[in-house]
Amino acid sequence: MLRIRVLSAATFGVLMTAAALAAPPPANTHPELHAIAAAVQASNLHASDAALVGFGTRHTLSTTTSKTRGIGAARRWVATQFEGISRGCGGCLEIVKPAQSFTGERMPKAGAEVMDVVAIQRGTSDPERVIVMTAHLDSRRSDVMDATGDAPGANDDAAGVSALLETARVLSRYKFPATLVYSADSGEEQGLFGGKIIAQYAVDQGWKVEANLNNDMVGNSHGGNGAHDPHTIRVFSEGTKANETLKQAAYRRYHGGGVDSPSRNIARYMAVLAEQYLDDFHVRMVYRTDRWGRSGDQVPFLEQGFPAVRLSESNENYDHQHQNVRVENGVHYGDVISGVDFDYLANVTRLDAVTMASLAMAPPPPSGLSVKGAVAYDTTLAWQPSPGAASYNAWWRETTAPQWQHLQQAGDADSVVLKNIILDDFFFGVSAVSRDGWESPVEFPGFAGSFARSPKLGADGKPTNERYPSASGVFGGGAVGPASWRQPAPPASGKTP
Ligand SMILES: [Zn+2]
Repeated sequence: MLRIRVLSAATFGVLMTAAALAAPPPANTHPELHAIAAAVQASNLHASDAALVGFGTRHTLSTTTSKTRGIGAARRWVATQFEGISRGCGGCLEIVKPAQSFTGERMPKAGAEVMDVVAIQRGTSDPERVIVMTAHLDSRRSDVMDATGDAPGANDDAAGVSALLETARVLSRYKFPATLVYSADSGEEQGLFGGKIIAQYAVDQGWKVEANLNNDMVGNSHGGNGAHDPHTIRVFSEGTKANETLKQAAYRRYHGGGVDSPSRNIARYMAVLAEQYLDDFHVRMVYRTDRWGRSGDQVPFLEQGFPAVRLSESNENYDHQHQNVRVENGVHYGDVISGVDFDYLANVTRLDAVTMASLAMAPPPPSGLSVKGAVAYDTTLAWQPSPGAASYNAWWRETTAPQWQHLQQAGDADSVVLKNIILDDFFFGVSAVSRDGWESPVEFPGFAGSFARSPKLGADGKPTNERYPSASGVFGGGAVGPASWRQPAPPASGKTP
């Protein structure tokens, strides 16, 4: 039965003058999120980063047999860290190591194995809904094929993996309705192969990935140009879905939705959380999938049709990226630990932890959201009920505003009429709220904004429509072997190679 609750804005006149103001304060605040932010320790991040740098190189093609050097030793160390965290929470983490061989421009012709180290904290009541945090374990030198020389990768991306471990440690003390996944990817520098593995693993497990938070280069606060901003993290989000069909694009171009992908609304959600729960630490939203001409492990999630964002430091130092460690004409090159600002990294980690927790506590955004109101003075939003939701919030904003501005509570109805709010003049969305006030991200109506997965292939395995080509496929390459997780289970004694 369709229940409609009509809620009028306080007064039409007040509403219009409020349009230029910032977002209203949230209805609820959560002391748990303050506690989670406070639990993140810069000293833990420093210890993890130092341990990872200590493996000399973590190049994807480096040794897997040494106990002290190379990607194999680093993977085993990460697995040991996850196991330690799990022991502290009564075995709350499952650890899996999905692997597959890939070839490509930056891989051996015959292919080489790429393996992720993944911890899964299963949700209590909605375990199929998954929030995935990623960072990449592998590092590189000036020559991307040099697998033997030192490649400390302290910021790119030991800092991200350290944030991953610290977030897992802090959140392991809590239980969440949805599942949290932490993936330390390999093969990123060789062609985003570890990202492809975990994104495909998510598809094969039937996970409903609500968000991927990819942390890549999140620990440097001093730009190579002298800029210094320890109070801001960039969150990159795509504007329109990677898997949009031409028909969907045509509708979106006409009606709007070009700045309202679910990834974008995750970025908006993070920006609000930072203001609410972090101490002078802010999200700088960038309306772009990634930095110019560059990419990261969020891209394979986007290509699989999942919402995903990339976190990256506000100012980069290009002398410290993808460079052999050396001094030339007084200039220090290379990605060493002295270039990581652990207080800055701690704030990024707090944002990760608070976002993961808030998403996992809240119900999923409503599905099947539609908006109507052409040639009318009211706007009507309607949706399918969201599991675990006790109420819904209708949000709208000026079409040129970066953040949601106006809120109308809709109670437990599955639609709402916004009186005297003209559909033509605003962008609209709806969030779901749990009984104890945990709010989901805002979802924009229709395909453009839907959090439901948009698979790149139809049920018959063929593209469902003509699509735009990917702009991110800068490295060729593909799988040359079967996915390990589709194989019969290995003997229980299997160790990470
Ligand atoms: Zn990186």
